[in-house]
Amino acid sequence: MSVSVDREKIVGHPSVDEFVRKLEGRTVVSDGRRGKALIIGLDRGRLIVRFGMTGQLIVVPAGYPPEKHTHVTLRLEDGREVWYIDPRMFGKVWYIDEGEEDTYSGIGHLGIEPDDPAMDWRFLKKKLGGRSLTIKEALLDQSVVAGIGNIWSDEILFRCKVCPETPCSSVTDAKWKLLAKTIPEVMEFGIEKNAITPGEYLEGKGRKYYDIYYLEAYGHEGDPCTRCGRPMVRTVIGGRSSYWCPRCQRRPRSATEPKRFLSDKG
Ligand SMILES: [Zn+2]
Repeated sequence: MSVSVDREKIVGHPSVDEFVRKLEGRTVVSDGRRGKALIIGLDRGRLIVRFGMTGQLIVVPAGYPPEKHTHVTLRLEDGREVWYIDPRMFGKVWYIDEGEEDTYSGIGHLGIEPDDPAMDWRFLKKKLGGRSLTIKEALLDQSVVAGIGNIWSDEILFRCKVCPETPCSSVTDAKWKLLAKTIPEVMEFGIEKNAITPGEYLEGKGRKYYDIYYLEAYGHEGDPCTRCGRPMVRTVIGGRSSYWCPRCQRRPRSATEPKRFLSDKG
């Protein structure tokens, strides 16, 4: 491959010049994932991509019309190109050379994978039970369980009938057990439901990454709860929109009525 970069800040490591030079002539040999990060194995070293809020990686045939906000272009030998597109530029790419320690991408600080057998209820309780956060914020903490985002944390809490505003210290053992069982199920479900062909992905430019129809909680403000029929609500927790059923996911008595409950923009 050969590489060009149009925005310096997208390359987290090494310098842009070195990034371009070191990727020249490399071959892709594998692909993998850790948390929400993509790992592209090369015949020497590896590329790590973190997508931020709006990053997409698309593979386009030769001569494909240019796309706005394309910041990194990998030109492959067969004429195809791999484009990293990112309108808001919160994402980054890193090249980690063979034998080099990755102290750059933050992958080393990620927590356990959701499907790791060690991710059981004791692990969750030990890591989170003493935290002063809400359970919703705790599930988003990538240093505990890696890969759970805003949509899937809502789905997990809905299935477990846990109010997202529950302080971690109020989560019961029974609910920790249920969470530990449900987290891998929901993440697996999400991966299966999001499986699309490269053609479909290219058509949507990588932006259509979820469909509301198979989500039970996220995006369903005002819709009837699939379990009890009452209207779902949206509140803002830790700056993130959260969707839940006030009847099935009762707020624990100890949780005070927060102000943010009344003004729920965001
Ligand atoms: Zn309900």
